[in-house]
Amino acid sequence: MPRRLLLIGGGHTHVEVIRRWGLNPEPDVAVTLVSPDRHTPYSGMLPGYIAGHYSHAECHIDLDAVCAQAGVTRIGASASEIDFAAHVARCGHAPDQPFDVLSIDTGSTPVLAPIPGAERHGIAVKPVAQFLEHWTQLREAARTAPRPLQVVVVGAGAAGVEVVLAMRHRIAGDGGHADFTLIGDGPTILGVHPRRVQQQFMSILQNQGVSVRLDTSVARVAPGTLFLGDGERLAFDEVVWVTGAAAPAWPRTSGLQTDNAGFIAVDRHLQSLSHPGVFAAGDIASMRDTPRPKSGVYAVRQGPPLSENLRRALRGEPLVEYHPQPRALALISAGDRYAMASYGPFAVSGAWVWRWKDRVDRAFMQRYRVAPENI
Ligand SMILES: Cc1cc2nc3c(=O)[nH]c(=O)nc-3n(C[C@H](O)[C@H](O)[C@H](O)COP(=O)(O)OP(=O)(O)OC[C@H]3O[C@@H](n4cnc5c(N)ncnc54)[C@H](O)[C@@H]3O)c2cc1C
Repeated sequence: MPRRLLLIGGGHTHVEVIRRWGLNPEPDVAVTLVSPDRHTPYSGMLPGYIAGHYSHAECHIDLDAVCAQAGVTRIGASASEIDFAAHVARCGHAPDQPFDVLSIDTGSTPVLAPIPGAERHGIAVKPVAQFLEHWTQLREAARTAPRPLQVVVVGAGAAGVEVVLAMRHRIAGDGGHADFTLIGDGPTILGVHPRRVQQQFMSILQNQGVSVRLDTSVARVAPGTLFLGDGERLAFDEVVWVTGAAAPAWPRTSGLQTDNAGFIAVDRHLQSLSHPGVFAAGDIASMRDTPRPKSGVYAVRQGPPLSENLRRALRGEPLVEYHPQPRALALISAGDRYAMASYGPFAVSGAWVWRWKDRVDRAFMQRYRVAPENI
C-alpha cells in the first residue's frame, strides 16, 4: 500500500513542492493536490494583469500541467475540514481524501468579517478568480455608464495601492470613466514602507486623480453607501476590498493549533505545533518562532524546505529547519510601467525598476511552464 501525501491548496509554496517532486519522486508515495482552481495566480504579476500588461496565461500557473508532469493527482475541490481520527480531509462534494502526511497552503483572504455588509456589497481581491471575473464586468460598466463610476478600494497597503493604480490605468486605456478613492485606516499609505516610498506613491496617486482618505475606517456597508467610522457616508458603484489577511475557520475548527487570528501555528520545520505530520506554509501558516508579514516572497521561499520536510516526514527522518530572511524586497508597481523597490530603509524607483520586476516575475513563471509533450 503506497503512503499518501496530501497537499491542500495550490499556492505559491505547493507549486514548488510539486515541481520538485516531479524532478525527484519518492518511490511508493501517492501524491494528491486538492485545489478548486486549475489555474493559480502569481500575485507578483496580478496588478500587471489588471493593468493590461500581461495575459491571463502569463500570470497563472496551470496546476493540471504541473501536476501531470510530476505524477500528482489534482482533485478539483476545496477542503472544508480535517478529520484527524480518520486521517482524511473532507472536501465538499468530492470524496474524502486520505493522508499519512498532510500539507496546507491555502493562502488568506481580505479581512471582511468585522464589517457588516462588506461581503455582500463589494468584491474582495481574493479569491482571485472571482475578483478577475468581476473585474471584466467592472471594466465594461466603466465603458458604458452614463457618468463616471465611483470606485472605492479599501486597504492602503502595497496590494491596495497597486490595485487602485492598475485599475485606473486599465480603465483609462479602455476609454472608460471612473473616479477612484483609496481608503486606509492608518495615518499613511504603505504603512510598513519607508517615508520616501509613501511620499512618492502619494504623489503618484494624486497625479493620477485618485483621492486618498487616511485614518478612515469603514463601519458598515449598505447597497451603494459606505458608512465611515467618523459618521460620514461615501457613495459608491463598486467597492474592492484589499484589507489585510484573514484566515478561514476550518483549520481551527478541525482542531489544529492556530494563532489568535486563526492561522495555523507552525514551528521552524513548518510543522503544526499540535499535529506532527501536518505542515503548513504561505499566508495560512503562522511561524511561532520567526513571525513574518503575509507576503508571497516568504511563501515562495518556503517551497524548498517544505518539499524537503515532506519527504523526510514520509521516510520518518529528522526534519530540517527553515530560517526566513529578516526582510523581503517589495517591488511595487504604479499602474503604468513604473515601479518602486523597497527594502528595509532603502528605496529606488523608475521605469527600469518595472523592467527589473518584469524580468524577475517572468523568470519565476518560466519555472512552472510545462512543454505540452511533457504533460
Ligand atoms: C493584488 C495583490 C498583489 C500582491 N503582490 C505581492 C507581491 O508583489 N509580492 C509579494 O510578496 N506578495 C504579494 N501579495 C501577497 C501574496 O498574494 C500572498 O502573500 C501570497 O499569495 C500567499 O501565497 P500562498 O501560497 O499562501 O497562497 P495563495 O497564492 O493565495 O494560494 C492559495 C491557493 O489555495 C487555494 N485554496 C484556498 N482555500 C482552499 C481550500 N479550502 N482547499 C483547497 N484549496 C484552497 C486557492 O484557490 C489558491 O489557489 C499580493 C497580494 C495581492 C492581493
